[in-house]
Amino acid sequence: MKKFIFYSFTTFIILSTISFIQIYHNLDKYEVSSYNKKQKQLNLIINDTHRLSNALFDNVINTKKVIDVFKKANKSSDEEKIKIREELHTLLVDNYNNFKNYGIQQLHFHLPNNDSFLRLHKPSKFGDSLTDVRASVKFVSENKIPIIGFEEGRIFNGYRFVYPLFDENEDYIGSVEISSSLLNFKILFEKNNNTHIDYILRKDIVEKKVFKDQLINYKKYFLFDNFLIQKIIADYNVNCIHEVERNIIFKKLSKNKEFLNKMNNLENFYDIYFYDFKVYSIKLTPLINDFTSKKVGYIIMFSESDYFKYILDSYIIIILIIGMLSILIAYIAYKKDKEKKLTVGLAMHDQLTNIYNRHYFNIKIKQEFKKMQKQNIQLSLIMFDIDHFKLINDTYGHNIGDESLIYLANLIQNNIRVNDIFCRWGGEEFVILSKKPFDKTIIMAEYLRNTIDNKTKDNEKIPHFTCSFGVSSLNNVTSINEGLEIVDKLLYKSKKNGRNKVSF
Ligand code: GH3
Ligand code: MG
Ligand code: MG
Repeated sequence: MKKFIFYSFTTFIILSTISFIQIYHNLDKYEVSSYNKKQKQLNLIINDTHRLSNALFDNVINTKKVIDVFKKANKSSDEEKIKIREELHTLLVDNYNNFKNYGIQQLHFHLPNNDSFLRLHKPSKFGDSLTDVRASVKFVSENKIPIIGFEEGRIFNGYRFVYPLFDENEDYIGSVEISSSLLNFKILFEKNNNTHIDYILRKDIVEKKVFKDQLINYKKYFLFDNFLIQKIIADYNVNCIHEVERNIIFKKLSKNKEFLNKMNNLENFYDIYFYDFKVYSIKLTPLINDFTSKKVGYIIMFSESDYFKYILDSYIIIILIIGMLSILIAYIAYKKDKEKKLTVGLAMHDQLTNIYNRHYFNIKIKQEFKKMQKQNIQLSLIMFDIDHFKLINDTYGHNIGDESLIYLANLIQNNIRVNDIFCRWGGEEFVILSKKPFDKTIIMAEYLRNTIDNKTKDNEKIPHFTCSFGVSSLNNVTSINEGLEIVDKLLYKSKKNGRNKVSF
């Protein structure tokens, strides 16, 4: 039984190890594909926001009232501009505040020369040229078609939707940008994905683009000196999902030279971490300005992997099969092992007396004879036969005959040395291959003869009997057969001389 448990256990360990390697091997694949799904989710959120922005544009901005006010702006003096700006602001402020509740953050009018005209999100800032800092605005004024994409800005950064504006004569009068806050994306995304997401920007890029007095809206991203995050997002992160684990892993990463190198070059990065019996993965995807195609920062996603939960859920059957297979394989191995032992045992032992049989003796004597020829060791043979055994059978019955044979076998076995080879030669005839010198073997035979004679006297179970012995040395013969013939003759001599004798 112990062996069976051992087999089951070993098989289970082997099968589980193979499966585990396979499962572990697939972890990366699973995580990468799950990040691809998340990226799609993010795109869906961007699309939703785009639709919201279109609604704002179609129903509020691109209306006669607004166009009539804004079309005057381009050709007006600075003084007139102030009035027009105020007019436009009054016209839109309520709607803007309303749309803010849905995640719209920026509403920004630009003149055809890319000068900022009115920022609904920051009415005090206007008049600056956006030609060099806002490729999206420049693109729209040049091409007069709407455009969508991520772009950093002078105050915030985010996904921008920029629309050209035309008067009733289809003349270009400027453009308007509607954009949603990154925090809004983050909240929507994290709600649906159980994944932490951050948008971080290269410090040098922010410092170049953002109004100096607006830099307070940004802070250093975690332990990474070269990256900034919008404060409002960092504040939201304070109680983010997996905050503790994320901080530990980020701390590790901040000391990892290879990672820092990649980060400096804004290269893709992905890794898996085992922490507190859970798996976490992190993915850094370069954040690209869609209008200049320049890498400006990273989208960072961090999540606890549900891979092993998924494996457990969907592979529970496989685990059960492995378990059952292990037991089955172990059972077959155990049976085979037992059968082998049984057949080996049967082939080598005499069924009645359970001592070695002639087949085993022949194998052993060949081995020992060879050894003797090489190493010059002592080897002797004893052959003995029960006297008048036929009479025992005839007088007491075959069963008592059998009992006598068993008794004799046990008696001899207990009175020879461990390395003497004792076997049933056939019927009531036995042989012993002794590793003692010839003279000592004669003494042993004499001792055994005497013991049989004495021990079977007054025995309750079996009748008294004696045995006749032949003893010969194998050291002086050239073959095993010759030795066997000699010892057989000596045994016959003991019979002839009156039985219960040892001849040599
Ligand atoms: P001797 O002293 O000359 O050896 O006379 P013996 O009667 O012992 O010799 P014999 O060869 O005439 O008879 C041997 C008998 O042993 C015959 C056979 O039935 C019996 N015998 C052989 N094997 C077994 C066995 O396994 N069980 C029993 N009960 N008898 C057996
Ligand atoms: Mg006999
Ligand atoms: Mg005989």
